[in-house]
Amino acid sequence: MKRIGILTSGGDAPGMNAAIRSVVRTAIYNDIEVMGIRRGYNGLINGDIIPLDVSSVADIIHRGGTILHTARSKEFMTEEGLDMAMNILEVFKIDGLVVIGGDGSLRGAQKLSEKGIKTIGIPGTIDNDVACTDFTIGFDTAVNTALDAIAKIRDTSTSHERTNIIEVMGRNSGDIALLAGLAGGADYVIVPEKELNIDEICKEILKGKNRGKLHSIVVLAEGAGGAYEVGKQIQIKTGIETRTTILGYIQRGGSPTAFDRILASRMASMAIELLMGGKTSRTVCIQNNKLIDLDIDDALSYKKQFDEKSYKLVEILSI
Ligand code: ATP
Repeated sequence: MKRIGILTSGGDAPGMNAAIRSVVRTAIYNDIEVMGIRRGYNGLINGDIIPLDVSSVADIIHRGGTILHTARSKEFMTEEGLDMAMNILEVFKIDGLVVIGGDGSLRGAQKLSEKGIKTIGIPGTIDNDVACTDFTIGFDTAVNTALDAIAKIRDTSTSHERTNIIEVMGRNSGDIALLAGLAGGADYVIVPEKELNIDEICKEILKGKNRGKLHSIVVLAEGAGGAYEVGKQIQIKTGIETRTTILGYIQRGGSPTAFDRILASRMASMAIELLMGGKTSRTVCIQNNKLIDLDIDDALSYKKQFDEKSYKLVEILSI
């Protein structure tokens, strides 16, 4: 392997830069040249490609976002788009590709592999919705960002003796809500994996009030329903002033946590080892604190297991 390409695709996530840095430096350490493909698969089709050296990735390990930018590309998903991508890879003499992104991006890497280029995927998304891996790059940072916000809202919630609903991201996954809720001492978490039961939530809030609690915190995952509507119903049913905060895009930015930087550095370095070993259509994952690689097809057929124990623990600890 003489020259590889790297791209980031789908939604950005803190830690993507740490992964890019590790790909570039591990490759150069092993005498492999690296080309940075900008703007995901869109940039691949358009030949938006720059050489990356050791200095190109200096001073980025602590930065959120992705220096290569990211995009979604409908064109790439067509047969013509894939052929255009293969053509560009040939023109730039790229014989291996590392793709950092969510499951859609990994599927793209698998499609390219079928066309004959060696590809390795790295799961990067704040949503933690790539089922084959216990953690995706960016998830831990997003949980910590949400936790920081919960702590601040908790202060004002206590002063005014209110109920506060905090909506966090996660698409169809309740993982950010669940872990930020557990760490933030939430009274209730509302996740798409569990049926929404407003009466049950109100019962818990009133139980807390009766034993002298000054406030209630409810963390809601974006995929579980409209936060404002839930807040309105809770206020009507409990008679307690209820405020809603939607955290939004602050969860996608910020300096990655140590966990995300380490995960990204380790996963990306392993991606290069896999390419050097002649592997293709594999994705790096972390399972039970061990890095492994799986065939992308197999990896994408995993079904996400909801963390029932942590969900129950939120309930136990909010008595
Ligand atoms: P996130 O979870 O952050 O949204 P993602 O990687 O799942 O990340 P997608 O929009 O699903 O985000 O995928 C990113 C890009 O990957 C798409 O715009 C498309 O170019 C490519 N892609 C997605 N699915 C496929 C597919 N089935 N075949 C080929 N390419 C795909």
